[in-house]
Amino acid sequence: MRDQPDVLVIGGGTAALCAAISARHAGARVSLLEQAPHGLRGGNTRHSRNLRIAHAEPTPFSLGNYPESDFLQDLWTATGGASDPELAARLVRGSTEATDWLVAHRVHLQPTSSDVLPPSRKTAFLLGGGKAMLNALYATAARIGVEIRYETEVNGLRLSGTCVERVEISDSGGTRIAKPRALVACCGGAQANRDWLRAQWGEAADGFVNRGTPYASGQVLLSMLDQGAAAVGDPGNAYLVAVDARSPADDGGIATRVRCMPQGIVVDIEGRRFHDEGVDTASTRYAVWGRRLAACPRQLAYVILDARGLRQAPPALYPPIAAETLAGLAVALAIEPTRLLATVADYNAAVRPQRDTGDSGTWHTEGLDPPKSRHALPLIEPPFAAFPMRPGITFTYHGVAIDARTRVRLTDGRCAENLFAAGVIMAPNIVGRGYVSGLSLTIGVVFGRIAGEEAARHALG
Ligand SMILES: Cc1cc2nc3c(=O)[nH]c(=O)nc-3n(C[C@H](O)[C@H](O)[C@H](O)COP(=O)(O)OP(=O)(O)OC[C@H]3O[C@@H](n4cnc5c(N)ncnc54)[C@H](O)[C@@H]3O)c2cc1C
Repeated sequence: MRDQPDVLVIGGGTAALCAAISARHAGARVSLLEQAPHGLRGGNTRHSRNLRIAHAEPTPFSLGNYPESDFLQDLWTATGGASDPELAARLVRGSTEATDWLVAHRVHLQPTSSDVLPPSRKTAFLLGGGKAMLNALYATAARIGVEIRYETEVNGLRLSGTCVERVEISDSGGTRIAKPRALVACCGGAQANRDWLRAQWGEAADGFVNRGTPYASGQVLLSMLDQGAAAVGDPGNAYLVAVDARSPADDGGIATRVRCMPQGIVVDIEGRRFHDEGVDTASTRYAVWGRRLAACPRQLAYVILDARGLRQAPPALYPPIAAETLAGLAVALAIEPTRLLATVADYNAAVRPQRDTGDSGTWHTEGLDPPKSRHALPLIEPPFAAFPMRPGITFTYHGVAIDARTRVRLTDGRCAENLFAAGVIMAPNIVGRGYVSGLSLTIGVVFGRIAGEEAARHALG
């Protein structure tokens, strides 16, 4: 490995590749270190599928228009204002160039005419998903001379004053020190680090599923914070979604989401309902349920459906747990049968059809706490079925503060001169809470490019 590259990029996802390619285009000698093996390269980017872009008129990849002011407003609304206005403005402006830049680097986007996925106004879809984008960007990076090393882990760095002095790296050959002129940290968050999660969430963390890469250990993030980098966001907050409890501990991706809550009722391990299942019907309902599941005993709950609900439910990756009777289903779920039977009986007795319309969406309960405000059809048709659910962690809201040049801010108010950050590791500067779809990839592309250019300028300057 080049021990003295001009620019050393840590990570192998969207942000890292955009930073490495941009730094190389700017004339720097660049090394990219990816902790994962080749087959698992690319972090959570592997699981992604769309990015959010502002555009003034229809593009081959997005319908209609999405003015920059609308993007900023959506961001403001979703985060409740927890977004640095200068960085948010850079993100939105940079998003207008993101698809052109990706296409120029041989990434294929889904044309709106192709209908592989329903086309969108606010986002562009990656044709072939995140993996296909990664393959294209890795090929570009290699072609233009970026040195790429897999199974190479950065353990930490040493900051002296405002400069990174050295970086500790390990691979199959052992541990050694590199002294790059500039360092770009694009190595994501700490959501795969069970000890760290437990420190934030207590025992509840043991009930979480990590939806993405197992390599998000956060060790570089924690090392930076240890060395005087300023933190941003909230370590006790995470973007959680409802996933099937049978998902693998890591890397289940988007296919394990559970979305059929409106078609049934949701009970905890005691067989008790705890939230209105009819109120959240947007396509992103799995996201609001993630946090509710985190507050459940053992972070486990079940959607209970009857045969009609199951027929109406969206497709699921795992088969439902099914039984001819509710009592049999309760036994299969290890719920006390009398509790589940009582919950379903109370619910069925409270269901009220809407007389003046045939729309079952308007059926609701009366006198039930919590209510089911829409889609409240009785659970009466056997066989009965259930999907077990847990909170699936996507990313955390904990990162390093940066300035508009992506230089890492220090707790003493200064900025590091040769330490830059891009991607999820700095995303909480822009999305301190909440989320809008496609935001993370756009943050990776826009700030990865800025960080690569700034790092090269520093290294070569
Ligand atoms: C299931 C799922 C679906 C998603 N879908 C979307 C979507 O459609 N659109 C969207 O915008 N966002 C989506 N996201 C979020 C998005 O994928 C990520 O936030 C984004 O990919 C982050 O990019 P990144 O480059 O910052 O980090 P990552 O892509 O996670 O890359 C981090 C990299 O750092 C490496 N690394 C970590 N530690 C070290 C170390 N110490 N040394 C060396 N390398 C290290 C990792 O191996 C990895 O390659 C999704 C996330 C998940 C989990």
